Amino acid sequence: MAVSSQHSIRYRSYPQFGPEHELLRKTVRDWCTQELRPHADAWEEARLFPREVFNRAGELGLLGIRVPEQWGGQGLDWWYTTAYAEEMVTCGMAGLTMALLVQSDMATPVIHEIGNDYHKANFLAPAVKGEAIAALGVSEPDVGSDVANLRTTARRVGDDLVINGAKTYITNGTRADFITLAVRTGADGFKGISLVLFPTDTKGFKVTKKLEKLGNHSSDTAELFFEDCKIPAKNLLGHENAGFYYIMQNFQGERLVGALSSVAGAQRVLDQTIEFCNDRKAFGRSLLGFQTVRHQLVQLEAELEAARQLCYRAVDLVNRKQNAIREITMAKLIGGELANKVVDRCLQLHGGAGYMAEYEVSRAWRDTRLITIGGGTSEIMREILVKIHGLSK
Ligand SMILES: Cc1cc2nc3c(=O)[nH]c(=O)nc-3n(C[C@H](O)[C@H](O)[C@H](O)COP(=O)(O)OP(=O)(O)OC[C@H]3O[C@@H](n4cnc5c(N)ncnc54)[C@H](O)[C@@H]3O)c2cc1C
Repeated sequence: MAVSSQHSIRYRSYPQFGPEHELLRKTVRDWCTQELRPHADAWEEARLFPREVFNRAGELGLLGIRVPEQWGGQGLDWWYTTAYAEEMVTCGMAGLTMALLVQSDMATPVIHEIGNDYHKANFLAPAVKGEAIAALGVSEPDVGSDVANLRTTARRVGDDLVINGAKTYITNGTRADFITLAVRTGADGFKGISLVLFPTDTKGFKVTKKLEKLGNHSSDTAELFFEDCKIPAKNLLGHENAGFYYIMQNFQGERLVGALSSVAGAQRVLDQTIEFCNDRKAFGRSLLGFQTVRHQLVQLEAELEAARQLCYRAVDLVNRKQNAIREITMAKLIGGELANKVVDRCLQLHGGAGYMAEYEVSRAWRDTRLITIGGGTSEIMREILVKIHGLSK
């Protein structure tokens, strides 16, 4: 059976997905396989995909799945987001998938949740349509995991905010039209942080460097600089100095789509590997003829199923508006670590072919390495779980 049909059939067996989810899956899968996958090598090589991909994602309704229709979205729930995140991996470029997920599920949900009509009309709605590219600016050259100590400042001057500082590792950063930006508006520590919507055509803003990465080559990642950048104070999102809380809330969705996408991506590589092992012969038989190979494959399949169920448990809680921090944190930790293990083992099972650029597993091996780092490292996930379980000393 072809890998693509295995991929689609698997998800039909879960009761939470009905014909409407399958329709969305088919839309995403067809788009990925017909319009994106054929360009994967070229876009990876170019270190960027065309801007029109955002427009097309907007047309297909993928950039505002949970956003109310009033702002151009589809007003659907997290199971549809799950279907979207899981199917996007069929484009075969984790970089492109990440860029779109940043737009739909990392930089904009907070606007939908706490923004006013001005924020929604001017930033959310164009992003949902794919007309404006969004980025999320939290990490800085000196501060990543330790978000509470970020240094980029926003000083109130009359009706404006004047921003100074730098951000780094920002996905979509070289061509974003606006950045959902974390800034210091108050005292040191987590109580002095705010979120603002920063238009990148503001004077004093500069993309200082497009960063060359280990993987995720089709997406752009940038270092940004802000020098006396004046933006209207009305671009402040929610309450001043409540930004740390908003960022932590926002991380939940980011981590959940990250976990879903990495488990689905690893599953795709495992499916490809099963097919490879079926076809490849050694010592007069198919690799599947060796018990050790078969056992490895089903072990990885079983572990991925467990990780997927953990993700689905988190999705179910989020959908029912329950606290899901524990489950999301576990899903990101377990899903991310497992995805790396699965892809590494799959590369090994490909032998020399796995090391060759023409096999998707080699790209996946580089791309997957990001998941235990971006959006909060595995160590930070463990720290959060330590706190939740009251084990801090
Ligand atoms: C490709 C890519 C895309 C990204 N996109 C974005 C983006 O769009 N927007 C954005 O804001 N950021 C983005 N990031 C940044 C990412 O979120 C950070 O890299 C991540 O949060 C880790 O921060 P850091 O790199 O500063 O590492 P550090 O915080 O310096 O950590 C270094 C090491 O120390 C460990 N460590 C830190 N604190 C502790 C602790 N308390 N206990 C134990 N270990 C600890 C970490 O786990 C890690 O192993 C991106 C990063 C990459 C690589």
